[in-house]
Amino acid sequence: MPQYHPPLRDMHFVLHELFNVADELKLLPAHADVDVPTINAVLEEGGKFASEVLFPLNLSGDQEGCTHDKTTHAVHPPKGYKQAYQQYVEGGWPALAADPAYGGQGLPIVVNHCLYEMLNSANQAWTMYPGLSHAAYECIRAHGTEQQKNTFLPKLTSGEWTGTMCLTEPHCGTDLGLLRTKAEPQADGSYKLSGQKIFISAGEHDLVPNIVHLVLARLPGAPEGSKGISLFAVSKYNVNADGSLGGRNGIFCNAIEHKLGINGSATCPMILEGTNGTLVGQPHKGLAAMFVMMNAARLGVGNQGVGLTEVAYQNAAAYAKDRTQMRSLSGPKMPNQPADTIIVHPDVRKMLLTARAYAEGGRALGVYIALLIDKELSSDDEDERKESADLVALLTPIVKAFLTDNAWLATSHCLQVFGGHGYIKEWGMEQYVRDARINMIYEGTNTIQSLDLLGRKILGDNGAKLKKFGQLIRDFVEEEGTNEAMQEFVNPLADLGEKVTKLTTELGMKAFGNADEVGGAAVDYLRVAGHLVFAYFWARMAKLALEKQGSGDPFYTAKLHTARFYFAKLLPETAGLIRTARTGVAPLMAMDEAMF
Ligand SMILES: Cc1cc2nc3c(=O)[nH]c(=O)nc-3n(C[C@H](O)[C@H](O)[C@H](O)COP(=O)(O)OP(=O)(O)OC[C@H]3O[C@@H](n4cnc5c(N)ncnc54)[C@H](O)[C@@H]3O)c2cc1C
Repeated sequence: MPQYHPPLRDMHFVLHELFNVADELKLLPAHADVDVPTINAVLEEGGKFASEVLFPLNLSGDQEGCTHDKTTHAVHPPKGYKQAYQQYVEGGWPALAADPAYGGQGLPIVVNHCLYEMLNSANQAWTMYPGLSHAAYECIRAHGTEQQKNTFLPKLTSGEWTGTMCLTEPHCGTDLGLLRTKAEPQADGSYKLSGQKIFISAGEHDLVPNIVHLVLARLPGAPEGSKGISLFAVSKYNVNADGSLGGRNGIFCNAIEHKLGINGSATCPMILEGTNGTLVGQPHKGLAAMFVMMNAARLGVGNQGVGLTEVAYQNAAAYAKDRTQMRSLSGPKMPNQPADTIIVHPDVRKMLLTARAYAEGGRALGVYIALLIDKELSSDDEDERKESADLVALLTPIVKAFLTDNAWLATSHCLQVFGGHGYIKEWGMEQYVRDARINMIYEGTNTIQSLDLLGRKILGDNGAKLKKFGQLIRDFVEEEGTNEAMQEFVNPLADLGEKVTKLTTELGMKAFGNADEVGGAAVDYLRVAGHLVFAYFWARMAKLALEKQGSGDPFYTAKLHTARFYFAKLLPETAGLIRTARTGVAPLMAMDEAMF
């Protein structure tokens, strides 16, 4: 049976030693009271909830899946999900990072982010139900009317209702400009919606009495394409003036999808017929309003990748220390046993260390960006808000795509450590691989993330945001320039920084001649950029580990070994990626379509 132990020690390292989160939060008026003991206590309790309540439902939920009742349109998640959700609500977890004005606890996003990593490790499918509620909360808070805020935010905050995002339609996924769902204005200022949405996560379920759907639709006479999309709040049950639930609204789930992974999460086609809705934000500006939700969700998906990488690593490491098979090439390590444990084999170690380096590097990047979001939302210094927002914009596609691509690689490696036992269901490893696959697809495929990074975030602003991150690297390299012990980390970091600058300029020039050049290079480019970001954080973690070598705590020795592994065995992948990015788009576009 699989196991999961909340990685609190590494979280403490990242939060308190690497980023001094409590000191940073003290500078933000909304979070000035948040100290180290508070953060640790919350995460300890959150870890217990994840490992003791959610984790035991992971395998069974995957095997059982959801059921749909065609007559009533009801969807029932697997056994135990509802009780776990009730415990989640009773524990006050949905309110953790919500505004006290709506009943929230007002803790920073960075704490919520760490909680969610543990929920994702324990049970990604279950975590989909509350996961989008916070994103819906953020969207309504940023763009809703006072009435919408008062109606929906307290219920989303308490967890009494959950939220969804309804974008995708059968003919329109990536290209939302094609969407057809209609919204007709009514005399009372509300709208009647009609159309079909597909693949809606947690679109229908019985964990809560009501669901708030944020739906993209077109107003009559709206401009074509993405400039004619508006956003609407739709409640499963109509809400009376006093806040109580009225009659059923015209939004129904007519089936559930049967899919590769996250089987406990209901993925719902939704039919809208004469559905009551209210406009969120301005007419035709729905996509911009929805981006608040999509960006929050993209970071959440990156965090799903880290969660799965961590839990897969823990299980593979435990197995590798237990399973005996063959002898070490350099002579028996367990001479009294008929064979050595497989952890003596270099390639088994490579697979384990890959997963570990991706989990710990991903955790550092995730916490960093979550803290930036806290600054963007809560700093009283306008410059700091803007700087933080720029870095968040730059790093969001990297978090979404790099961390989820890494999770797919890492979970596959961890399955491989189990050999044939990884491929059968009993050990739980094949579920991690299946669950990890969706993270590369939804919230904008990883290809779309790479186009967003290279085309919009980097070339689109002449590299201004990239330069900001580059400055952090240059400052660090300069600080450590004379530190002999750090050269093994600082030199490759500085070298990669220069190569990325050159590659960016080269791709920018090529894109002037042929815009397809961006599409041909973007995926390789994002992976190189991801490694640059990881190299920066791994170098910073190595510095701390070197400084604390004398403490005798093996945590720092392990951290240093993992950093060395990362620089020796993973970062060099960038050389090949840069070469393929530079070969241009011609080998991709030369073949005539008919020849495929
Ligand atoms: C389990 C699950 C849960 C989901 N949950 C939700 C949800 O809660 N709400 C919601 O609205 N949607 C949800 N989705 C939908 C998901 O976001 C879409 O599947 C995704 O955005 C891709 O759209 P698509 O499937 O139509 O693929 P398409 O858009 O048809 O893309 C097909 C392929 O073409 C590539 N492609 C498309 N355009 C370009 C381009 N310009 N350049 C290069 N490549 C391109 C894509 O990367 C992809 O590889 C979910 C999907 C699944 C499977």
